[in-house]
Amino acid sequence: MEIRSKVRSILKNLNIKEAPIPVERVANLFSLEVVYYPKFPDSVSGTIIKDEDLHAIGINQNHPEVRQRFTIAHEIGHYIMGHDENKILDDTFDKNTDKEREANKFASELLMPYDLLKSDIEQKAQDIPSLAKKYEVSEQAMSIRLLETSLINSNNLKKPL
Ligand SMILES: [Zn+2]
Repeated sequence: MEIRSKVRSILKNLNIKEAPIPVERVANLFSLEVVYYPKFPDSVSGTIIKDEDLHAIGINQNHPEVRQRFTIAHEIGHYIMGHDENKILDDTFDKNTDKEREANKFASELLMPYDLLKSDIEQKAQDIPSLAKKYEVSEQAMSIRLLETSLINSNNLKKPL
């Protein structure tokens, strides 16, 4: 399954036309309830649980909001990409497995959809901090996204002062 076309259909379904992406609404679209936990250890970002009567995403609510949004998107990624464990616990995102990479790729595409980002950059010169703010993602996530999509090569991207 192609991640970009999957995200396009989600955005169309929810009639989302601009950033920030309401990531919890996307979770709800797939009948995933988002639960915020105050007591996860700091090393745990989130979890996704799928059993017979519970489909839920648990989020470490002590983490910064941009990180919580990325985690929700990452867990939706596990769900949509058909990673079939009943429970996945994300204690770090840099576990070097295909599934983690795939979930991160999905999260990046969902939070910073290619079409929206491209159009924002084409309309107006942007810098990374303002783009990150608009999309409600970390500046690091936005930098990675701009590099991986090659959008950073656009002449319209403002040079840092
Ligand atoms: Zn994961």
